[in-house]
Amino acid sequence: MLNFEFKNPTKIHFGKDTISKLTTEIPQDKRILLLYGGGSIKSNGIYEKVLDALSGHQVVEFGGIPANPEYSILLQALDLIKEENIDFLLAVGGGSVIDGTKFLAAAANYDGEPWEILTKPVRTFEGQALAFASVLTLPATGSEMNSGYVISRRETQEKLSSGGPGLFPVFSILDPEVVRSIPQRQIANGIADAYTHVLEQYMTYPAGALLQDRISEGILLTLQEIAPSLLSKEFDYTAASNFMWSCTMALNGLIGKGVPTDWAVHGMGHELTAQFGIDHARTLAIVAPSHYRYNLQTKKDKLAQYAKRVWDLSGDDTEALALQGIEKMESFFHSLGIDTRLSEYTKDFEGAAEKVKSAFEARGWKGQGEYRKLTPEDAQKIVAMSY
Ligand code: NAP
Ligand code: FE
Repeated sequence: MLNFEFKNPTKIHFGKDTISKLTTEIPQDKRILLLYGGGSIKSNGIYEKVLDALSGHQVVEFGGIPANPEYSILLQALDLIKEENIDFLLAVGGGSVIDGTKFLAAAANYDGEPWEILTKPVRTFEGQALAFASVLTLPATGSEMNSGYVISRRETQEKLSSGGPGLFPVFSILDPEVVRSIPQRQIANGIADAYTHVLEQYMTYPAGALLQDRISEGILLTLQEIAPSLLSKEFDYTAASNFMWSCTMALNGLIGKGVPTDWAVHGMGHELTAQFGIDHARTLAIVAPSHYRYNLQTKKDKLAQYAKRVWDLSGDDTEALALQGIEKMESFFHSLGIDTRLSEYTKDFEGAAEKVKSAFEARGWKGQGEYRKLTPEDAQKIVAMSY
């Protein structure tokens, strides 16, 4: 196992009726900015539950944070934070609202141009961020229990990630009842995003982290087991609660400790969202199979382990098993109703791979992946394989 440090300070309130915990978790003297997205919280009742719990608190609101949180819109929220002397941010939403809130928590105490937080060579925020918490409405990203975030800037077709040790939520509320109102498309996205988060931390090379491997395989198996129930029309609390906790566990830091991590699928996927506006999770399903086929030689041991332990395949030929494992992975994405070819999403796919290469070059991303050797040319070839 590789050496590691692990600290995750986010307190989790998990279960039915936990939104009421807001009353006591946020001190009465705080001036709260309640941040949310396009309005789903107003039609599914979450907004009322949050305001009920916060009656007696000082609350200012900012709604309209879009999926793939947009820089120019977040700057409006930043002005409001300053005008209203806000000292606590509460994100009520999915990954987009939580990520946007993390960026604001960092930007509120940053003196320079806010975009610099995402573009500086060391893309971590070391300063003191504004305190923030979340009420999760969409299991998927793990943002509710990690310190990373991703921000989009339409003007320049950029989608960049950042983070920092001071950017964990103080607490997050995970009430699986919120899953009732999530459209099927977003449920499928959530499963695929969490599944790929596990793959990014698992599909590298064996590092002797036996427990982390088993936890990762447990999350993959759980997501596979509950997917049919989650995608059926009937709400099932057992499936919803396991979905929510699997997504959080997939990216709260635990399974990525003591192992090499990849994250190149996310790097390439972000470029496809920036170019075409394709949902985050779907870009991952497009890139992942090609990425694993392209890097078969360096990843075949883990791919074969995945084929055996997660898909119950057998055989002695490591390479053959690895390829069968990738096929199973691709069929799993298909079973969620997610297409895995770029050409199934856009007719303008020609040139996409070259653009990914140029974007990586422009940022100086010369070596990605667990060996830090995946070049912009490799990324171009992988994306071209996924057309
Ligand atoms: P999202 O963009 O937050 O939300 C997608 C859609 O789901 C929105 O239209 C939203 O509507 C709706 N929605 C949310 N909760 C709902 C509910 N309970 N009922 C009905 N509709 C609901 O989706 P996401 O997948 O969670 O987040 C994606 C973003 O997170 C991407 O930008 C991605 O790059 C980023 N990400 C971050 C991390 C991380 O670690 N920080 C990891 C992976 C991905 P409203 O807008 O109306 O609420
Ligand atoms: Fe993701």
